[in-house]
Amino acid sequence: MDEADLAEHQEQMHRDRALAMRKPVLILPAVGECYNCRDIVPPGVRFCDRDCRADWELRNGRS
Ligand SMILES: [Zn+2]
Repeated sequence: MDEADLAEHQEQMHRDRALAMRKPVLILPAVGECYNCRDIVPPGVRFCDRDCRADWELRNGRS
């Protein structure tokens, strides 16, 4: 392995780690209301729809 191969290898490892960190981790209790707009939602649901979830994830830096 020469120096160019080594640099390539390290860059790939860095990319993999960045990808892993970008994966959203949602560990929230369902509280009966939307975390984004506070609308009432069915039991076990945390957001009223995909847009609200996306909004919330954006504001919480999990995009
Ligand atoms: Zn909502």
